[in-house]
Amino acid sequence: MTFKDLKLINNIQESLLELGYEKPTPIQEQAIPEVLAERDLVACAQTGTGKTAAFAIPIIQLIHQIVGSAKKVKKIRTLVITPTRELAIQIGENFNTYAKYTNIKTLVIFGGVNQVPQVDQLKRGIDVLIATPGRLLDLYKQGYIDLNHMHQLVLDEADQMLDMGFINDVKKIIKLTPDNRQTLLFSATMPIAIRELADSFLRDPKYVTV
Ligand code: AMP
Repeated sequence: MTFKDLKLINNIQESLLELGYEKPTPIQEQAIPEVLAERDLVACAQTGTGKTAAFAIPIIQLIHQIVGSAKKVKKIRTLVITPTRELAIQIGENFNTYAKYTNIKTLVIFGGVNQVPQVDQLKRGIDVLIATPGRLLDLYKQGYIDLNHMHQLVLDEADQMLDMGFINDVKKIIKLTPDNRQTLLFSATMPIAIRELADSFLRDPKYVTV
């Protein structure tokens, strides 16, 4: 299978070609069609399997098809929640690389640093917000984050968020998002608490394991 078989637009295929990605990894083959069809997804995949691209690439395509090169003020369309600052930065870099030939704007926010530059960027308008749970809730409570126009919610490394004690924050965040969202849950392992999370908050998800 090739990226072309996955019906990716040329703007994305071009950036993948430049990166030297020859073909999709197994998680990408399985996840990309589901995400493009706007279905909910539970994916059991470790780091190193190409799981970030498995959600970033189709999300960029979905946003690009709506936003295109419009110059309107941007609203948050995708929220990615991830446990650590390092992962947040990595995911942000992935989005920026794959979205190189689109007009999509990404912002990464995490705690432990001055919030002012993050707030300035939020005010200017972004399409994709990648956040750690604490800082997301903090800036939301201060009124800087509008999730009403959001379509995709990604819960990345869900088992690690559970281990780090973020599960209640994650549930709070899910409840702040629109009911008609598309939800994608990625986890290296599937402990019972994560399966329960999927059962409570996802709509007839497709399960994929690699
Ligand atoms: P991840 O599992 O998201 O941490 O990705 C692991 C690494 O694989 C990252 O450095 C990606 O840039 C790389 N990668 C992702 N998809 C592909 C692909 N289809 N072909 C080659 N490398 C890839």
